[in-house]
Amino acid sequence: MSLKKNISILFLLLSLSSYTQQDVFTHQDTLRGTITKERAWWDLKHYDLHIQVDIPNKSLKGSNTIRYKVLGKNQLMQIDLQIPMKITGVSQDGNSLKYRRDGNAYYIRLHKEQILNSINEITIEYEGVPKISKNPPWDDGLSWSKDKNGIDFIATSCQGGGASIWWPCKDHMYDEPEEGVKISITAPKHLTSVANGRLKNTVENKDQTKTFVWEVINPINNYGINMNIGDYTHFSSKYKGINGNLDCDYYVLSYNLVKATKQFKQADKTLEAFEYWFGPYPFYEDSYKLVEVPYLGMEHQSSVTYGNGYKNGYRGYDLSGTGWGLKFDFIIVHESGHEWFANSITNVDIADMWIHEGFTAYSENLYLDYHISTEASNAYVIGTRKLIQNDKPIIGAYNVNNAGSSDMYYKGANMLHMLRQLVNDDEKWRSILKGINTEFYHQTVNTKHIENFLSKHIGIDLQSFFDQYLRTVKIPVLEYSIKDDHLEYRWTNIVKNFKMPIKIYIDKQIHWLTPSNSWQKLPVKNSNTALKVDPNFYINTENLTTK
Ligand SMILES: [Zn+2]
Repeated sequence: MSLKKNISILFLLLSLSSYTQQDVFTHQDTLRGTITKERAWWDLKHYDLHIQVDIPNKSLKGSNTIRYKVLGKNQLMQIDLQIPMKITGVSQDGNSLKYRRDGNAYYIRLHKEQILNSINEITIEYEGVPKISKNPPWDDGLSWSKDKNGIDFIATSCQGGGASIWWPCKDHMYDEPEEGVKISITAPKHLTSVANGRLKNTVENKDQTKTFVWEVINPINNYGINMNIGDYTHFSSKYKGINGNLDCDYYVLSYNLVKATKQFKQADKTLEAFEYWFGPYPFYEDSYKLVEVPYLGMEHQSSVTYGNGYKNGYRGYDLSGTGWGLKFDFIIVHESGHEWFANSITNVDIADMWIHEGFTAYSENLYLDYHISTEASNAYVIGTRKLIQNDKPIIGAYNVNNAGSSDMYYKGANMLHMLRQLVNDDEKWRSILKGINTEFYHQTVNTKHIENFLSKHIGIDLQSFFDQYLRTVKIPVLEYSIKDDHLEYRWTNIVKNFKMPIKIYIDKQIHWLTPSNSWQKLPVKNSNTALKVDPNFYINTENLTTK
């Protein structure tokens, strides 16, 4: 791989987190990223979303009926819809309601008394020309493309910016509609519209349009909801998984059917590897799908979007530079991994997005471990270290919709890979990964939940370990010297109380050291012996031996 290719791939990864990268946060960032009091008093139950797509004008129009439970006393509701889209009407129980706009947030004044624990519905009408994505999926918005035959090929992608870029919703990750979402898309009748979950109905309308009704019955995160429209061909299979037969549906451009039938066989291999490591696929009821789109791909829940060109690797390249990255289709493996980490287990705040990307980047080498070997998996994750920037911490700023460094991917993966070494028992490690998926199944979580779970189940207090790798850009340095009959060693460049054990080879033997910030000694047989740190640890070394 040439350096230039390396840099361009790095750029693609980096640009994912740069969308909100800024030092000063605005009032709008706070409205978008905070659980405001106008959000906190009501709990999402269900969305019934209708979208009419006007292709010539690149505009959308429709409604969203939101079912919610009243958790506290309040008559003011925040609903998000980003400029230039606009809300054109709001009603509850047939009565129209007044609302006020503050940038991308709307405040709706409710007439009906909101009684504690009652279930209510509100209907929002909306329309407008949504932002067009300049670089999907890293820049949010609509992609209005054409396929090779000149037929319309349309998709949405909104990770980071949020779903409110194209439809009105409670646009904060903490709350998911736990009864799911119904998505009805109306577009010209020669096209097929694909969203999340299962196709429940199609209706041919009198005006040469066709409505496709899709339904998800599990909780779903807002950016996971998607709309894809094109000249699709459909094929399907059943995967015999842990929880029985999983319906797998594939929607690809008609002329890619042969390529897709071959390449998408990797979906079964992916599901097999991840059910082994993480436990059952989290959305059997909603099925599993791969849907071709005009951009690289995204982890849309039960509707994983695919644009990797039917090639292995990341657009044909191996991110690790070891050759192992060409043994699988990066988009099938990575985006499907997100069904466990992002869709089932979702971050409350995007500042903790490493929970999505760290575990999912790590899932790439677990795939290799399952299908090839632990050696291949080790080489792959170690190879991805060259993508680590250490430019800023992995965890971003809270409450302002701010993601941390793109290091959440491969520094996150290498951090988890080190935890596997510390556990030093792969069956236990696998039970911990499955345990996370049971404990936090279909929930929104923050970093603390994951840290506490891992400390408890690994049996080591990992607070300083996570502080070091998630909250600073400092990589621990093992300083050592070998003189006479002993090795002296200590950690430097560390946070307070950092005491990670480390596996080394010296005198042709394995030793586990527990360095701290003060010097410790280990007797050695031969003063000319060399020290080698197990390469699975992502640390630096400094040899201070004077000869
Ligand atoms: Zn990802």
